[in-house]
Amino acid sequence: ERTKLAKLRRLPAVTTDGELVELQANLEIPAELPLIAQSGAIGIGLLRTEFLFMGREDLPDEEAQLIAYTQVVEAMGGDPVTIRVLDWGGEKDMQALSEGVAPTHSGPNPALGLRGLRLLLKRPELLEAQFAAILRVSERGKVRILLPMVTNPSEVKAARDIYERVARRLRRKGVTLPEKLPELGVMIETPGAALAADAIALEADFFAIGTNDLAMYTLAVDRAEAEVSHLYDSLHPAVLRLMQFATEAALRLRMPVSVCGEMAGNPRLVPLLLGLGIRCLSMNASAIPRVKQAVRALDIADCARFARRVMEQSDPARIHELVLNFETGSE
Ligand code: PEP
Ligand code: MG
Repeated sequence: ERTKLAKLRRLPAVTTDGELVELQANLEIPAELPLIAQSGAIGIGLLRTEFLFMGREDLPDEEAQLIAYTQVVEAMGGDPVTIRVLDWGGEKDMQALSEGVAPTHSGPNPALGLRGLRLLLKRPELLEAQFAAILRVSERGKVRILLPMVTNPSEVKAARDIYERVARRLRRKGVTLPEKLPELGVMIETPGAALAADAIALEADFFAIGTNDLAMYTLAVDRAEAEVSHLYDSLHPAVLRLMQFATEAALRLRMPVSVCGEMAGNPRLVPLLLGLGIRCLSMNASAIPRVKQAVRALDIADCARFARRVMEQSDPARIHELVLNFETGSE
């Protein structure tokens, strides 16, 4: 079994009818790089940059960030690396920042408060340093930038203005940047962003659907809250309908869209995700071989039929049953 999975590393993630699916890795700390290299991932679909800000009392400056991003981008060779700017706040409290930068935990409801891009737009010097470091590494590989916790197209526009200003400043200082700046994408991880995906798409270069937060906000359930965690269900039809709406908004514009929450690493969910039109999945590196195995056994027409059937259901229990009983060729 193990050698079979190891052999998979060199095989492409392609369906039986020849559709190529991009399988990428999520990275939380650089120590995961060797595992990612072994996993068969083609690039990093979600580089969470929170690690840079944790366990310290001051902020990492542009140089410190540049060193960290360079390490990752060089380790990935020419494969794409999607760097998400700081998603701080909510449950991801970082002590050093709380003291010096913004009191994220002081609000009545941190998950609905100053978190992700909201904080960065309020403290643009944080966003500027991060954009500058990412731009400076962009000549060394294929880099993309991802904005967390967006709910409004105007936030993306504001971030893009800052991004372009930082790029102009770097060029004035003589830094060589690629003629076409790295793409600026948006995490779809709130119901508001999902249902406004058509408007947000006009400001974004790509989407990454974050199913962890999307399920939490849609169902108003915190997974870490034991009393209600049984209600957390990524296969709830409300979550799936939002994912479908956002995916279709992207596909209509021929804009790249990926799934990068926990759902992406579950081999049982591959038929549904492919059936919804997703062709890029980013997950923990350890999940890649089994997801690849699943992709290689599937036919896109089967997946599409299966997804249509799932999307007709309104009872979560029925959806679970369908997903558990999916068999290749049975559709
Ligand atoms: C998500 O919310 O699904 C996601 C990928 O981001 P994070 O888990 O870092 O919040
Ligand atoms: Mg998230």
